[in-house]
Amino acid sequence: MDLKIIDLTETHAKFIVSGTRPDMANALRRALMTEVPKMAIDTVEFHLGPIRDEDGKECESVSPLFDEIIAHRLGLIPIPTDPDLYVPKDQCTCNGEGCPNCTIMYSLNKKGPAEVYSGDLEPLGSQELRVKDELVPIVKLGPKQALLIYASAELGNARRHTKWQVTSGTGYRYYPTITIDTKKCDDGDACVKACPRGAIAKKDGKLVVENLEACTLCKACEEACTHDAIKVTGDNTKFIFEFETDGSLSARNTLRKALEILEKNFDAFREDISALGEA
Ligand SMILES: [Zn+2]
Repeated sequence: MDLKIIDLTETHAKFIVSGTRPDMANALRRALMTEVPKMAIDTVEFHLGPIRDEDGKECESVSPLFDEIIAHRLGLIPIPTDPDLYVPKDQCTCNGEGCPNCTIMYSLNKKGPAEVYSGDLEPLGSQELRVKDELVPIVKLGPKQALLIYASAELGNARRHTKWQVTSGTGYRYYPTITIDTKKCDDGDACVKACPRGAIAKKDGKLVVENLEACTLCKACEEACTHDAIKVTGDNTKFIFEFETDGSLSARNTLRKALEILEKNFDAFREDISALGEA
């Protein structure tokens, strides 16, 4: 399997995978979607009762939303994750108690009237753990309402819950092949006009492939051509992949991690098969 990066930013990746098969491409898609681990808030403790501030003003620990809804919203906030730093809580040496190797703790203390955003989450520890996306709305507090919470994030993947899903818009398509039979092709440009992506063009009266990777295999050009001069097919050994991350991991780290996991899964499968053979 060969991999060629076309576009790589902090949260978006587009690349070509070649020398492979459709089932392998799908395995990579599934690993990207469900296997890459990240940190997400899983436990939230709400303070109950009155809260008094420095000026002696008293607020009540209530908000217009149910605590469950606030906890759910906190769970969906992308938490910055170093994929090589953390271990799942149930596999940690702290026996599930929670420690810096498996848990990130946050506090949130806000008094109304105010709007509460993800940026109000204060990490208990390094400021590098601060939420990058600071404007995710959580709740709007009225006068004399307040929110005091302690939230802990832990490692998981999307097989457990989609709040641990790093990628979105994960997909691939077959690499296109456009064949033009110049003998059959006439002066018309119906096929060029029919292509919604500008993949083909007329240059000096000749039909040429202008931007092959833009082709989505819609075959609109084939239908528009009345001389059967153009053929569009998909290569089932080469795929164009694309995905975005929620910002908890960089696109590069997400891809690296997915490939690592895929390799580990294949090794485990191979071992299982050979163990069956010995039995
Ligand atoms: Zn631990």
